[in-house]
Amino acid sequence: MIAGVDLAAKEKNKTGIAIISDREIEAFEVLSDNRIIDVTVNVDLVVFDAPLSLPKGRCCLERGCKCSRFGHFRKADLEIRKYGRVLPLTFPYMKMLTYRGMRLKETLESLNLDLVIIETHPGTARKLINLYGISSIFGIEWDDLSPHEFDATIAAVTGYFYLKGEYMILGDQSEGAIVLPKPL
Ligand SMILES: [Zn+2]
Repeated sequence: MIAGVDLAAKEKNKTGIAIISDREIEAFEVLSDNRIIDVTVNVDLVVFDAPLSLPKGRCCLERGCKCSRFGHFRKADLEIRKYGRVLPLTFPYMKMLTYRGMRLKETLESLNLDLVIIETHPGTARKLINLYGISSIFGIEWDDLSPHEFDATIAAVTGYFYLKGEYMILGDQSEGAIVLPKPL
């Protein structure tokens, strides 16, 4: 099973979840970290729409910290900019989102040692896949999805291509890479 997670920066805002099992996909929204963990901890692959790591050399994303000289972007964030605009990780919203993503990744990995967790960027990924072709495989009604469910579904579908070996990696694996679908 594959879970796509369109993560909100805060628990009071909706997080989209999409679960692919066999040829079926189910999308819904949740709020809390606990609910996110409940619905993703036992799948095989979780694909987050959120940064899951810091730029190399950084210990945090705080402006006042000595580590700030290592900048606002990872290599992956710089490489993805050729597809469109992305925000620096140090922007207040991105900072909260990154911290939440990193916390959830760490918790999920501690609860399930077999779980594979990757990061994607649905705004970019959706440009690289054929939405109609995908909907015929999984029976997705794109128009019925909320914006968060839509992005979660794109993330889950990116996971589907990842498991098929049809993907590309942006950035440096040791720093934290972004996976994008590359359908054959
Ligand atoms: Zn720091």
